[in-house]
Amino acid sequence: MKRVLILHYHEIWLKGGNKNYFLSRLVAAIKRSVADLPVSPLQFISERLLLAPREEAVIPLILERLRRVFGLAYIAPARELSWDMEQLGAAACEMMAEKNPRTFAVRAKIADRNFGMNSMELERALGRVILDHLRSRGSDVRVKLNDPEVTCWIEVIPEKALVYTERVEGAGGLPAVTGGRLIVLLSGGFDSAVAAYKMMRRGAHATFVHFFGSPSATRGSSRPVAEEIVRVLTPYQFTSRLYCVPFDSIQRQIVAGVDQSFRVLLYRRMMARIAREIARAERALGLVTGDSVAQVASQTLHNLVAIDRGLDLPVYRPLAGDDKGEITRLAQRIGTYKISCEPFEDCCPRFMPRSPAIFARPAELDRAESALDIEGLVNLGLETLSCTDFKFEGGEVT
Ligand code: ATP
Ligand code: MG
Repeated sequence: MKRVLILHYHEIWLKGGNKNYFLSRLVAAIKRSVADLPVSPLQFISERLLLAPREEAVIPLILERLRRVFGLAYIAPARELSWDMEQLGAAACEMMAEKNPRTFAVRAKIADRNFGMNSMELERALGRVILDHLRSRGSDVRVKLNDPEVTCWIEVIPEKALVYTERVEGAGGLPAVTGGRLIVLLSGGFDSAVAAYKMMRRGAHATFVHFFGSPSATRGSSRPVAEEIVRVLTPYQFTSRLYCVPFDSIQRQIVAGVDQSFRVLLYRRMMARIAREIARAERALGLVTGDSVAQVASQTLHNLVAIDRGLDLPVYRPLAGDDKGEITRLAQRIGTYKISCEPFEDCCPRFMPRSPAIFARPAELDRAESALDIEGLVNLGLETLSCTDFKFEGGEVT
């Protein structure tokens, strides 16, 4: 029996005039994700995409790749059959017997009027066959239309019917790289990696900037941590660029020149300024940070206003309203959690002030900064940065 994967996309964003654009980008992303695997050409039939593996053994690997394709709502590993009711019944019985549920329902979608039955008639007919089969095997299974333990789905398309009992959740969102570029301030910590993911999932192409200090006696450099995170995020958007900016000497000048309570806020302002210049060179449309409101002293609403003042570019903070638990769960799901757990020398808590300002005003930061050669520090960052490109191809990031 032929195996096929049904790829369902979110329909809402496909309704408007941009449908074809998004759909073509989704198709391109799917093809690129499985380009090196043994699959038949992707087919588009009755508003669904069908991908047939040439070998059954490769299905788990295909699923793993497809789960990173933004725009897919879910993926259903199905069997492809003819319209013959006897064959359909036999396949459905076999698949449901494997599941051996206590309650089940049949759900049919009919995309070809020539089939000869409507969806309710098909659901009833198959439901009866499955019920009889499972009961004959000694099960006391019942039909439960509302929240059944297992659903047997059947999708009728021209000349074929697809049967499945499992849906693998897709990544959702909009197809990758459909919405313009954003510069992500990536620290190596949990939050900024998740923030990047959330914006990438909305179609933004992320370019990363990481500021690093020198390693200490007990902790390694943060730079390989940032690189590893970019490596994990790259399959979602296929290509990434990471700028690494040495921050030691900039940080020392801030520490030497300004009131200790404003230190961290001024690091952040300086990072934003340098990222802003990179955004200009990259034609990016905004910055992204992993700030979660009031998680730490520098992230109070007051301080965020003070940090952003004077920056003529939007700063997206997709985690603003998220709790630590929600962020951690997402980090685990996308695979950045373990990387951020590694101990590394984080330049922000370094030279941590004893009493950081909690309600800084923009004017206070401006005043504190007046002792610094801001332009000189921005240029120092830009002159000393290095840049690495990443590419996802053939299942590997190089
Ligand atoms: P994260 O988990 O992302 O490190 P956090 O909750 O620890 O965030 P901070 O360390 O105060 O908070 O940093 C807030 C945000 O500032 C980060 O999410 C990131 O966007 C940016 N940032 C901080 N340090 C760096 C760095 N070294 N390089 C690039 N961006 C940074
Ligand atoms: Mg941090």
